[in-house]
Parts: sequence; C-alpha cells; structure tokens
Amino acid sequence: MKKYICFRFDIDTHICLREGVPNLLKLFEAYDARGTFFVSMGRSFDRSLFLREKIKAQFSGKKTANGTFSMFSKLGAANSATALLLNPRIGAVHKTILHDIIAHGHELGLHGGKNHALWEKNAKNWSEQKILQEIDYGLGHFRQQQLPAPVSFASPCWQSPIGIEKLLKQRGFSILADEYSATHQPNKEVSGFIHFPTNVIGKHGNVGFVENLRALGYSSEEILSEFKRQLDTEGNYKMVFDHPFYIGIKELEILSQMIEISLSKGYTIESLQNISRHI
Ligand SMILES: [Zn+2]
Repeated sequence: MKKYICFRFDIDTHICLREGVPNLLKLFEAYDARGTFFVSMGRSFDRSLFLREKIKAQFSGKKTANGTFSMFSKLGAANSATALLLNPRIGAVHKTILHDIIAHGHELGLHGGKNHALWEKNAKNWSEQKILQEIDYGLGHFRQQQLPAPVSFASPCWQSPIGIEKLLKQRGFSILADEYSATHQPNKEVSGFIHFPTNVIGKHGNVGFVENLRALGYSSEEILSEFKRQLDTEGNYKMVFDHPFYIGIKELEILSQMIEISLSKGYTIESLQNISRHI
C-alpha cells in the first residue's frame, strides 16, 4: 500500500469557517493536496451556567491546562465576543464556503449535531433517538445546501456515544474518526465501516497537533522535528488534526512546511474518503 496522510480540520466555530478555511483552501491548492474538513452545522456554545463558567476560563489566561491557547488569545476580543454572545450557527449559514471546500476537491464530513458543547457534555448519555435527531440535523443542512452526502463523521471533542457506528451506518456513513492514538492504524469492520485514528499527535492527543505543541512552548523547529519523527513510525497511514481558526490563521507557514515534509517522505496527502478506497 502507498503511504497516505490525512490533514484533518475540525470546524467548531464560525471563525474557523469564515477566516481559517479560505486560507487553508488556498494553501492546499498550491500543493494540489486534499484533506478532510469536519463541519459543525449548528452552534458552538451552550448558554447554560455550567458552560458559561467553563467559557470564562477561556477569557482569562493565555494558555489552558490541557495545552491549548485560550479562545481569547486565538480570536481576539471582538471575535470572542461574537462567538460567545451571538453564538452564530456555523455550517448552516455558510453555504458558499462549504461549496468551496468541495470545489477544491476536499472531503466535507459531519462534526456532531445542533450544538458542539452539548454534544461534548451529554452525547454519551443520549438515547439512540436523540443521537439520530442530532445527526439528522446536520444531514438536513447538507441536503438543504445541496452538498454531497457526507460519509465521514467525527464527534465533538471525541465524545463518541457507544453504538454510534450502527446509527451512522443507517445514515449512510462509512467512516468514524473518533480515536486518537500514536500506535493505531485504520480498523475496518466486516461491514466495511472504517475507524480512522488520529495518530500524529501532540502531548495531549485530543488537542490540535501544532496548537498543543506551540502552547507547550515548542519552537517551529521542534514542532517540525516531532512531526518528522512521527511520520517515520510504523504504518502507512497517518492523520494529523488542528482547527482552522488556529492553524489556518496563525500557523500557515508551519503547515506548509508539514505538507512539504509529508511529500518529501513519500506520503500522498488525501481525504479520509479517498484513503478509505485503498484500505
Ligand atoms: Zn470540535
């Protein structure tokens, strides 16, 4: 098998989509490379008190405990205020950019349901019926916007409810990308459904690779050398992820170097959907 790498981008906020994604499309076009974008169609935040407390932390320090930059330091005051106060819907109201992603040859997968924060907090306790309603909300917007039906799914914050594979298959999905582990390779069920792990990871596997290492104080050289080291580990399939509003705005230079390193090491840069045809 050829060697494949997927650059995966999770679109969690309207800034990701409006400001990060267009930069990423341009960059990938320059290398004739394709990736997978997981889009949240609904809203980022929930206004319940519990989550508001959590969000307060995003306004305080520059870095959070788990090795991410706070939203405030990534987005600035105006964008953070928009995100929190208006809490706009994400994919549901940005048809043109979503069509641009497809027009550039990338894959558009679905990232959760109506609300990213509520999925993160509650999805593991939801009934099958509730999970289907959430997935159907996302699929409804794909249909309304006349986008190709997605085959790849990723749960917000990796919070994958037990048994979601069965529900995803009912809705035409064939790929789930909810694991992170440096040693995992894709795992294909007898049914053909494939679990794709994110396996090029920072110190906190559930955080974006570049964002995590940068927040931990790595220099560009150190980030790239860690990336190279992980590309040389066993297995013909790699996946690395970040968020468009971080890497697509603040770290385009290092991303272009990661693309060049991948190519120089013989990797084909592809979407999960295209890679799945070779597994
Ligand atoms: Zn997310």
